[in-house]
Amino acid sequence: MNMSDNENKIEKLASLIKNSQRIVAFTGAGVSTESDIPDFRSSRGVYQSIEKEYGQPAEVLLSHSFFEKSPEIFFDYLRKFLVFPDAMPNDAHKSLAALENEGRLSCVVTQNIDGLHAKAGSRNVCELHGSLYRNYCVKCGEKYNLDYVLSADGIPRCEKCGSIVRPDVVLYEESLNQKVMEKAAREISKADLLLIMGTSLAVYPAAGFIRYFRGGSIVIINKDATPYDGSANLLIAAKAGETMRSALELL
Ligand code: NAD
Ligand code: ZN
Repeated sequence: MNMSDNENKIEKLASLIKNSQRIVAFTGAGVSTESDIPDFRSSRGVYQSIEKEYGQPAEVLLSHSFFEKSPEIFFDYLRKFLVFPDAMPNDAHKSLAALENEGRLSCVVTQNIDGLHAKAGSRNVCELHGSLYRNYCVKCGEKYNLDYVLSADGIPRCEKCGSIVRPDVVLYEESLNQKVMEKAAREISKADLLLIMGTSLAVYPAAGFIRYFRGGSIVIINKDATPYDGSANLLIAAKAGETMRSALELL
């Protein structure tokens, strides 16, 4: 993409945002790479490093059955590859929070588990895959924060009953939370502009949410191609944070 091509697209994005009152953003791991959290599927993504270190692909390490069978490896992997407690929101998260503050954006639907949308100030966030910041005892349901899990030696155990404390994230083989899914679908169906960014749109059922959209325009801001590029009214193959910051400067 040459420079003026990109500038035209950013102007078009700014004008779409300006003319919208109910924007919904749909985000994935790519919105957090500018905060130095690696995504899964791009060439420098987590998949490669995990397979090297544990000899198993992420779909196995992050599955319900693996968590049951080998919790000590699961938590070792979680601490090394999944949790980035010092990561700060970047311009992608901040722009979406600013648009919500201005009353233009109604909801962020995210596949991320890193909590960065909330850290940036977004209030209405649907976390389809849960959050690493919430943890609970598998037996008695007692709630724990992330620090509790990180500071535990090996497998984190419940203070009340001694059972395993696990993150409230959706593992492979587990289903998504029904209420969160319904809310996300409702928000998307009422949106007038859908801003999709930083997601390969390869993970189901999350990626299927796009079909609920009934509004005017779909924008995809993603470095690599996605299977939905053909449905986009505006396709920007660039960094989400930089793109959003440039677009908001034009408002
Ligand atoms: P993915 O890794 O499959 O795809 C990320 C996409 O973002 C890629 O297509 C890549 O080209 C693009 N990208 C990377 N950096 C970008 C940038 N700066 N600007 C624009 N695009 C950029 O991620 P996914 O679709 O979200 O699916 C991965 C699954 O893994 C999700 O379910 C999510 O729960 C989980 N995950 C979460 C985190 C996180 O919470 N930060 C990180 C890794 C994986
Ligand atoms: Zn307990």
